[in-house]
Amino acid sequence: MTALILLCTQRIEIPTFNAEFVPEQDGGPCFERAVAKLTIEHGDRCGHDGLCLVDTETGEAIEPWNEEQWFCRNHLWQYEQAVLASGTDAGRAAETLALL
Ligand SMILES: [Zn+2]
Ligand SMILES: [Zn+2]
Repeated sequence: MTALILLCTQRIEIPTFNAEFVPEQDGGPCFERAVAKLTIEHGDRCGHDGLCLVDTETGEAIEPWNEEQWFCRNHLWQYEQAVLASGTDAGRAAETLALL
């Protein structure tokens, strides 16, 4: 039986020189092997002001749902830097990080 290899679900961001006007460029999907899983519980605590509880096509309210994201080593590091930079962000209360 072959082991299931999970891949990072993030996009590669290419920093640009003028960060104010062009924060980053999309370098396409990242295909690195995932080392961590982030679960975001969209609902009261996720800090998205209810935007994620609206169907973007119909505009109707939807039930709270869980989003799963996978991080490779690089993207895990970026995520941790973002958490450190943001301090105690209330939105993080709905996020659960699990190392593989
Ligand atoms: Zn949300
Ligand atoms: Zn990645």
